Amino acid sequence: MSPELANRIGVIVEIVITLLAAFTVAFWFALAVWTFRDIRARTRDPLAILLGTLLSLAFGPVGTLLYMLLRPKETLAEQYDRALEEEALLREIEELNLCPGCRRPTKEDWRLCPYCHTPLREACPSCGRLVDLNWTRCPYCTAHLEQTLEPTSPEEETPAPDTKPPAAVESPLSDVTTYAEEQEEQAPIPR
Ligand SMILES: [Zn+2]
Ligand SMILES: [Zn+2]
Repeated sequence: MSPELANRIGVIVEIVITLLAAFTVAFWFALAVWTFRDIRARTRDPLAILLGTLLSLAFGPVGTLLYMLLRPKETLAEQYDRALEEEALLREIEELNLCPGCRRPTKEDWRLCPYCHTPLREACPSCGRLVDLNWTRCPYCTAHLEQTLEPTSPEEETPAPDTKPPAAVESPLSDVTTYAEEQEEQAPIPR
């Protein structure tokens, strides 16, 4: 081996080592940049962004691997999409017009729930269109509803509360007194 050839090989080896070193440094920084971008897409916490990037910068591929194990699972965009999806689902459920009494789906033009007989809607006395029971004005003809609307629910439901509560209120004390009065009233008569 001539000294000239040895010299050439030495130069080539030097160039290869330099290139490898340059590539390693570039790869190292590329990993740090990738980590910085990735964590910024996943969190807004500046401390987490700093730590993640430092981890990758300090330990290179190993640090990046560690970061990938520890990073938040969802990106902010994915979180946002999921929130939107959940909201859409909720809205869909609302649009099912669930009966407030039995939670069964009802239709928009039903006046009462056919399952539990809960009144759902009333016809506006002015324009005749169906309006919600807790609306105070008709959205179609602007008529005031609170005074004009009377609960026209099935006959069983309205009289029942009217007849029962008075009896229930009077029962504990007044029943005793009336019974006693009756006894007093009745007692003298036979004597
Ligand atoms: Zn119902
Ligand atoms: Zn109306």
